[in-house]
Amino acid sequence: MQKPLAIAIDLGGTQLRVALVDRDGGIVTRASVATDVAGGPQRVIEQIRVLCGEVDVAGRRAEIAGVGVSSPGPLDSEAGRIIAISTLPGWEEFPIGAELAGEFGLPVVLENDGIAAANGEWMFGAARGLQHFVYVTVSTGIGGGVMVDGRLLHGRRGMAGHVGHMIIAPEGPRCSCGAPGCFEALASGSALARAGREAAAAQPSSLLAQQPAETITARDIVAAARQGDSLALTLLEREATWLGIGFSNLAHLYSPQAIVMGGGVSQAFDLLHENIASTFRASAMLPFHDTKIVAAKLGDNAGLAGAAALVWAKEGSAG
Ligand SMILES: [Zn+2]
Repeated sequence: MQKPLAIAIDLGGTQLRVALVDRDGGIVTRASVATDVAGGPQRVIEQIRVLCGEVDVAGRRAEIAGVGVSSPGPLDSEAGRIIAISTLPGWEEFPIGAELAGEFGLPVVLENDGIAAANGEWMFGAARGLQHFVYVTVSTGIGGGVMVDGRLLHGRRGMAGHVGHMIIAPEGPRCSCGAPGCFEALASGSALARAGREAAAAQPSSLLAQQPAETITARDIVAAARQGDSLALTLLEREATWLGIGFSNLAHLYSPQAIVMGGGVSQAFDLLHENIASTFRASAMLPFHDTKIVAAKLGDNAGLAGAAALVWAKEGSAG
């Protein structure tokens, strides 16, 4: 009989979340804690152990099929090993897959957060039923996952789909990865916030100038835009332009049925969509113009649902 639950672990640079998730993507029990960044990987494994106690892994052990882990990358999903995480120092080459397999005595599937969330959207969310799509998460950085012909692309060491690091403006700002003008450096939530801080100083009448410049976040810009602030609306227009350019590159590369946009910035999808679509049409070849651009559906649960989806997908491919 198929076991009904998966342990989902969403490892982030800020939050560590653990849940028991069912086969429909439903969160049965969940617990979270601030990631002990300074403590390093062994301390975080200890945190995972505590959170597993809170979600009653021991009590429901007989119902659990496996463990799915969504983690920032780059990581080697074949080897179950982190390569390096910019927000988590000390994790270089950490064999998290083997550690957790030893801990639980269950199969463990590890993927980068973009691929995991793409899996989640495919099984439970906006990409359900599609054979070809690109998932793009736009938050602090930009990540993603690519499905072509019904298969999620993994590539060498599972590193395919680092869509945030295609260079779209070589003269642009430097990216967290060190290269100039990556999609992430221009269109991430951090890039939007930086543009807001710069612009607010020059426009004292803007709502954004009513708070200390260094505290302006992407969320503040979206809130100001919703109140009709013209500077904030201009910033979102520029954001949408960069997204439209990035998405048209992805459409040309992968010919998706849809591009699914998730991450914190997608909460402004209603404000961004029209300008994303017009830039997309201006940049993409005619046969690509009917590519759908849609918002992700899983929201805050993308990491957990995605991590659980990894377990169900692995089971499906093995059986
Ligand atoms: Zn980059």
